[in-house]
Amino acid sequence: MIIHLKNSVADAEVAKVAQDLDAFHIKKPDFHVLVTPSALQEVPAQYESITEASFPFPNDMQLASADYFSETREIDINGVKIGGTNNNTMVIAGPCSVESEEQITQSAELMVEQGIKTLRAGCYKPRTSPYSFQGMGLEGLKLLDKMRSKFGLNIITEVRDTTHVDEIIEYADIIQIGAKAMYDQGILRTCGKSRKPILLKRGFGSTLQEFVQAAEFILSAGNDNVILCERGIRTFETKTRFTLDLCGVAYLKEYTNLPIILDPSHALGYRYGVPDLARACTAMGIEGLLIEVHPDPSVAKSDAAQQLDHDMFRDLLTTLHPIATAVGRTII
Ligand code: PEP
Ligand code: MN
Repeated sequence: MIIHLKNSVADAEVAKVAQDLDAFHIKKPDFHVLVTPSALQEVPAQYESITEASFPFPNDMQLASADYFSETREIDINGVKIGGTNNNTMVIAGPCSVESEEQITQSAELMVEQGIKTLRAGCYKPRTSPYSFQGMGLEGLKLLDKMRSKFGLNIITEVRDTTHVDEIIEYADIIQIGAKAMYDQGILRTCGKSRKPILLKRGFGSTLQEFVQAAEFILSAGNDNVILCERGIRTFETKTRFTLDLCGVAYLKEYTNLPIILDPSHALGYRYGVPDLARACTAMGIEGLLIEVHPDPSVAKSDAAQQLDHDMFRDLLTTLHPIATAVGRTII
């Protein structure tokens, strides 16, 4: 249950109530938010007089629930806004990994040329094999930082484990929690303490309930800025890398208040169908798209098969603008 306590309640009393109800406490300018386990369905009688509003829920999807906020949350990334009443579809694009200054500079230049504001690239890669390229680490983060100051782009990069989460929070404008990291509660809790936007990717073996509950770890720690990313789940099908769960996206749009970004690149795993999928995703009226694009995909050190080349990306964007317009959105 979410309980809003009146602002006039003293901090010490709020702390006592929170402890009694086994609740998280989030301080807002005008009231205190307590989030208890969802099993609690009614405000205990002794706290009724200090309660301003209360919201019971059938399960632990609470702060993320559309029954709490009916609007999609607005996320402001240094003036680039999604959710709320903005009707923007934010394209996040760039290579899978930072590989060199030349490669990431060419990628940043492509974003500027296409009017895209958010550059992605991983520096700590969660690879399936220890023998694959693991990413450039801090050196890569510094290159991304350089792209931010040189081109004025927002930077998104992923956190692989808790050893470098603070480093990522320091360098990134949006922190990406990857599919394999979605269950890492150390990462989730640390990201909850930050106020920076978090892009939380769905674990490829997780249900929608588990996905939203992972988001609740961040929200209940006080970070309101959570974006969900559907990037494909594992099914019996092996011809494609994963299966993009658009039904799940429809569910999340209906039942949560979190902005949703779709990642067709990792879902399909092969570049041939990424443009068609990106168009289909845009038609769903979502807050963003994540597309992998590389100056020369044939030499990419990770996810080579799925990255678009620059011309494919240009052609894709040309076709995305009218689709976004048709569903009342603007590609940014
Ligand atoms: C990525 O974005 O490059 C990535 C590794 O994604 P995921 O966590 O979805 O596999
Ligand atoms: Mn990748």
